[in-house]
Amino acid sequence: MKTVGYAAHDSNAEMVPYHFERRALRANDVAIEILFSGICHSDLHTVNGDWGPQPYPLVPGHEIVGRVIEVGPEVTQYKVGDNVGVGCMVDSCQECDQCHHHEEQYCRVGMTPTYGAPDRVDGTITQGGYSKHIVVREEFVLRIPDSLDMAKAAPILCAGITTFSPLRTWGVKEGSRVGVIGLGGLGHMAVKLAVAMGAEVTVLSRSTKKEADAKELGATGILASTDKAAMKKATASFDLIIDTVPVKHDVTAYAPLLDVDGTLVIVGQVGPMDEFMSVPLLMGRRRVAGSLIGGIKETQEVLDFCGEHNIHPECKIIRPDEVNDAFDVMAKGDISHRYVMDMSSLSV
Ligand SMILES: [Zn+2]
Ligand SMILES: [Zn+2]
Repeated sequence: MKTVGYAAHDSNAEMVPYHFERRALRANDVAIEILFSGICHSDLHTVNGDWGPQPYPLVPGHEIVGRVIEVGPEVTQYKVGDNVGVGCMVDSCQECDQCHHHEEQYCRVGMTPTYGAPDRVDGTITQGGYSKHIVVREEFVLRIPDSLDMAKAAPILCAGITTFSPLRTWGVKEGSRVGVIGLGGLGHMAVKLAVAMGAEVTVLSRSTKKEADAKELGATGILASTDKAAMKKATASFDLIIDTVPVKHDVTAYAPLLDVDGTLVIVGQVGPMDEFMSVPLLMGRRRVAGSLIGGIKETQEVLDFCGEHNIHPECKIIRPDEVNDAFDVMAKGDISHRYVMDMSSLSV
């Protein structure tokens, strides 16, 4: 199948139109016309080569929403016309304990990321959602609930599941005290989801500059990490802290904010962290943990949860030819919305 997208041809991250082929459908494949494609911070890092050499040309994108246009003969869950999504993975072994536990992101053999990795069957490099079409095996296709706005649903496939999974893993419920560090693409989704679960949510930020935004999302307010008195007063006041900071930082300042047995979960930074002090961990059996996206079953749960609770990511809709400008803005700093490309202007 001929298609078109935007690809990086080397690590300077300049995205240019790129014509390429999607594979002919296998028996269990679903072909999707992509309608909207979210731009994740990790797309920028990946095409820049920040996380290692890449198989260019590379079409990034793992927040994909579209419509089924064709299905293979063995597909049972989807039919032409269905509204569907694809997230950060397109395959896994389907046989190991983690796959059987619906945690394909931790597949023992390694899951196949949506772009930049060899396909498990034919070894071709996977290409992502900054394109007009994608072909994905049925098991990795998600259903978009009718109550969700298709234009705004795409970021749930990465930013949504990345924050939903730790909230579920650590049992957030009515009355849980949750802190969210950072109010960017991940942080603002963490706030909305935790609030909908009934938690009391506080945003942790360097300053109270974004206090109005935080309150609008349902948080009680901002705790400024630079305000020493306020930080001291907040000692032992959180059950869970979701740390969405995307750059190297120090978690020592935040650890004392956790109550006994509390956990700080890193979901933003990929790479080295500053040296941290163990004392606050020992003094309250506190934990620092990490979490990577979520399994396919849980990704469907967060889509359904967002549908039920009318939760939509804050999105700014752009055209695909504006992707380089979006990358420039994202490279300069934290933005509290997600860029989503409307793919309707792309034609093969
Ligand atoms: Zn992502
Ligand atoms: Zn597996």
